[in-house]
Amino acid sequence: MPDALDPSSPATLALIEALGSPVVLLDAQGQARAISPAMKALIPALGLGQPMALVMRDPDLIEAIEQVARAGGRQVIELVERVPVERTFRIHIAAPGGAAGFLRRPVLLTFEDLSEQRVTERMRVDFVANASHELRTPLASLLGFVETLQGPARNDAAARDRFLAIMREQGLRMARLVDDLLSLSRIELRAHLAPDTAVDLSNICREIVDSLTLMARERDVALALRTPQAPVQVAGDRDELLRLMENLVENAIKYGRKGGEVTIEVRDGEAEASVSVRDDGPGIAPEHLPRLTERFYRVDTNASREAGGTGLGLAIVKHIVLRHRGRLTIESEQGEGATFKAVLPRYGADTRPDQP
Ligand code: ADP
Repeated sequence: MPDALDPSSPATLALIEALGSPVVLLDAQGQARAISPAMKALIPALGLGQPMALVMRDPDLIEAIEQVARAGGRQVIELVERVPVERTFRIHIAAPGGAAGFLRRPVLLTFEDLSEQRVTERMRVDFVANASHELRTPLASLLGFVETLQGPARNDAAARDRFLAIMREQGLRMARLVDDLLSLSRIELRAHLAPDTAVDLSNICREIVDSLTLMARERDVALALRTPQAPVQVAGDRDELLRLMENLVENAIKYGRKGGEVTIEVRDGEAEASVSVRDDGPGIAPEHLPRLTERFYRVDTNASREAGGTGLGLAIVKHIVLRHRGRLTIESEQGEGATFKAVLPRYGADTRPDQP
């Protein structure tokens, strides 16, 4: 009876080529004899007949393959490739059914690509660290004032009023942060469910312009709204679209020019509609643009905090647009203002809810 892992057996080769995972079978000389399509996709440089040790030159991997080829059994190693991009693999190395009598055995390598998982893990750790840091600052300030009021300022009425006002500010800042964190996680939880009710984008913009008129007036900013005559219906979630517009228009007022103008424009199209928010402020340097929608990313942390920002506004905007199966573009030239534009599928257009 032929050995189950005889690298020259057509049945073995056919089996490996049919596998869905990245698998390569090495013969007793360490050369690739069968490569599954997923393996070919993962490591295109690996070809039939090539020694594995030449394609992946990691000493730990070579050593583990060598040991399994000589002594049988199985080993699992993790390997990090740094070039051309960082990738992490877990590699299972086994000599299943390696028959006695061989000096070296054929070896089967099964790869697991852990890269995405590692990136997600790192983002989660960073996120928790950032969120804790953002909460700790106002919390430390609150506790400091409580101690002062209990001690040295116990009988100082003027100091008490001043400190209570600061404490209220810090409390509100923490509340805003927690609200934003909760919104973000709610939107993410429903990311796979594309909203499907008809929402008039122009109406959303009118509501936001009304609610932010006072804030705009305080900074002497004029709000201009341009919408088509007919309703512009997108497949949307009303509350989320209000939030999206509120964040964009608030940012344009906060970071735009004092005494400047913010233009909100709704446009209709065949399959898509769009809404853009343009300010005439200092704009954003190009190196910041790709990172603006990351959580807690700010161009100027102090300016953001002074304006009451949490650093989560644009992350929320991005997630709302993604959930709506739309696109967000940010254009800016320094000194020329910034334009944020969300393109959303129209209501009734052929949106494929399963496509992210
Ligand atoms: P924040 O709570 O800090 O406003 P956002 O996520 O809404 O957080 O925005 C992230 C950063 O992007 C802001 O801190 C600011 O530096 C920059 N930014 C956002 N909108 C504008 C704009 N219209 N003009 C210039 N900078 C902007």
